[in-house]
Amino acid sequence: MRQPIIAGNWKMHKTSSEAHQLVSQLKSLITTSSVEVVVCPPFTALAEAVKAANQSKILVGAQNMFWEEKGAYTGEISGPMLKELGCTYVIIGHSERRQYFGETDATVNKKVMAAYQNGILPIVCVGETLADREEKKTMEVVGQQVREGLKGLDADQVKKLVIAYEPVWAIGTGQTATASDAQEVIAFIREILREMYGDVVQNTRIQYGGSVKPGNISELMAQPDIDGALVGGASLEANSFAAIVNYNKE
Ligand code: PEP
Repeated sequence: MRQPIIAGNWKMHKTSSEAHQLVSQLKSLITTSSVEVVVCPPFTALAEAVKAANQSKILVGAQNMFWEEKGAYTGEISGPMLKELGCTYVIIGHSERRQYFGETDATVNKKVMAAYQNGILPIVCVGETLADREEKKTMEVVGQQVREGLKGLDADQVKKLVIAYEPVWAIGTGQTATASDAQEVIAFIREILREMYGDVVQNTRIQYGGSVKPGNISELMAQPDIDGALVGGASLEANSFAAIVNYNKE
């Protein structure tokens, strides 16, 4: 049985004090105990989010990290820095990082390895663009991102891994993939993992991301291979994120 995981990607939103306030509100609004809940604030608000999440089930993740542990890499943040702050998860390879900051499957792979080396669990993002989908290349593109991004992991690491399938055309657009389209791609991702690692992938959690809202979470979560959600816009407001996390209590 895979425990659902719902994570909020705050992107470049919220100062430290705003992060403290949002996490404090979520603590009282989240009533389900069956879902693993993660918030991913910007680097500058991580410490405050960890402090506010103290004595609650809310876990904190970062939105990115560099693969080296230290050195002359101006502006970068390393695994040991995130670990010491109390980060449990780190988002790797979000489509905005691939689109605006030149991330490739090769850099994603280095970051994934570095996350494990530092005891932080990666949430690895994959997904096709609208052009890929229209050219019927979804499976090819997503397949390559999975194979290349996860190259070299061992079965034990794959067991703990979280993958977020996020069709790029559905992120921040209000356009959600239908639950059955999302299920189809996510089942395909699990099949690739099975080819690579065998039955251990029954434990790997695969989220859907892309305009998830309180109104569509239940249908998505009813799909057999969808194990949670990576939520952008709707995670910035306490009531909407709590309603998503509490989806099975409605
Ligand atoms: C995201 O940023 O990962 C995301 C899915 O954003 P949104 O929910 O706003 O589409």
